[in-house]
Amino acid sequence: MKNKVYFIRASREEGAEVIARKARAIYLALGLNEKIEPEDFVALKIHFGEKNNTGHIKPRWLTGIIDEVLKKSQRAFLSDSNTLYVGNRSNSVDHIRLAWEHGFTPDVVRIPVIIADGLIGREKTEVKVDGQRIQTSRIASAFLHSDAMLCLTHVTGHVQSGVGAAIKNLGMGCASRAGKLDQHSVVHPRVNTKQCRNCGLCIRYCPAGAIIQTESYVLIDDEKCIGCGECLVVCKYGAIKMKWDEDSRRLQEKMAEYALSVKNHFRDKICFLNFILQVTKDCDCMAKNQPAIVADVGIVGSLDPVAVDRASIDLVLKTAGQDAFKKGYNIDWSVQLAYGEKIGLGSQKYELVEIKDF
Ligand code: SF4
Ligand code: SF4
Repeated sequence: MKNKVYFIRASREEGAEVIARKARAIYLALGLNEKIEPEDFVALKIHFGEKNNTGHIKPRWLTGIIDEVLKKSQRAFLSDSNTLYVGNRSNSVDHIRLAWEHGFTPDVVRIPVIIADGLIGREKTEVKVDGQRIQTSRIASAFLHSDAMLCLTHVTGHVQSGVGAAIKNLGMGCASRAGKLDQHSVVHPRVNTKQCRNCGLCIRYCPAGAIIQTESYVLIDDEKCIGCGECLVVCKYGAIKMKWDEDSRRLQEKMAEYALSVKNHFRDKICFLNFILQVTKDCDCMAKNQPAIVADVGIVGSLDPVAVDRASIDLVLKTAGQDAFKKGYNIDWSVQLAYGEKIGLGSQKYELVEIKDF
């Protein structure tokens, strides 16, 4: 059976109020709100955007959804987990301050911001997975103490997985720092010493102190490298590469197994909304304004994370008239979808239902 993916065309030019109404309509079509009980803790999983990032989901786009959730339970909260890399989201105090800076304040969103893995990212709950790649997932505890989840995702390209959408938001985004480390442990970047200009920028961004400077180029110490991928993104000269095929495949498979462990916790009390607006080459961990790689498409929603991602990618490719993600990074993004389907995370077959009246 094909899973339904609801779709509303939208663009940033319409303004936050219209986008909020459209997001509300998609959310209500999914039927999750009917299942929320007054005592339920409801996690709205989001990425608040790194400092100076402008592509992240905007707080005012969520006001319609939050109105509906609050009619059912007052125990709703916006949440993300702390990052591996050195930035403004690697501990809860900085992370919440940044969320406020980006407008996720009580006067706008009317629900609290809670960082799901505690002050320094150590609050985790282990879940038995017994997958091909993962035996036990390490999930930020507040997510697994919740009764329902709305997984709200900004669709982007990604340096390691080709596409970052619902599967990534669920699998990587809900992992504690230990869980993120676990997933990144398969990534082994290499320096092309002929391309390296020895500028030292990657050294500043490496959270593990794994980059060593020699007289003419830098080298990566595999023993220390945690595979976070920061150096891949910051090098302006393309001198750092990972083994796209092997490393990315294994990372995407681990991510899908992590995603399944979170989805299974919520059973039928989880839904996925993807915002295909200001789709950028890199994810919202980038501390800068990035141009869109395709015109705005709209918002899609489903109860199936694989279907919602497949539909999002199809819509982006159709709108761009080419594979806009592969143009950014030549990575086979389909691995996460195919592997997700194989392990029972969802299905790539979907029925697109366009909502025109709302
Ligand atoms: S950022 Fe790139 S060019 Fe600069 S030192 Fe690192 S690898 Fe070399
Ligand atoms: S070498 Fe690159 S991938 Fe490894 S820890 Fe440092 S920044 Fe992250």
